[in-house]
Amino acid sequence: MSQSANPTRRSLLQRLAIGLSLAPLALDVPRARAADLPLLSEDDPAAKAEHYVAEASRAQGAAPGALCSNCTLYGGPDGSTQGPCTLFAGKFVKAAGWCKSWSAL
Ligand code: SF4
Repeated sequence: MSQSANPTRRSLLQRLAIGLSLAPLALDVPRARAADLPLLSEDDPAAKAEHYVAEASRAQGAAPGALCSNCTLYGGPDGSTQGPCTLFAGKFVKAAGWCKSWSAL
């Protein structure tokens, strides 16, 4: 009886070991995809609608010091030069950028 249980347990343990060894690869997939996001163009119709500019110094109506990097919708890590924005799914915005939906942290 214990011999018939051992192959099953061995098989389960092997599958568990394989799953655990592949888990870090699966966790890296979203990070890798995020690194590949294209940069939002100022010519993109959605960017134009929001008056997005890649350099806040060129923005008209921006509060002094307002940047994508200090906006609540910016998802890039501290010190990043570009990152995701909730407003523009699938694109990166420049940390030094700005748009009319800027919201202070
Ligand atoms: Fe930048 Fe914020 Fe506008 Fe997104 S919502 S583009 S992070 S200012």
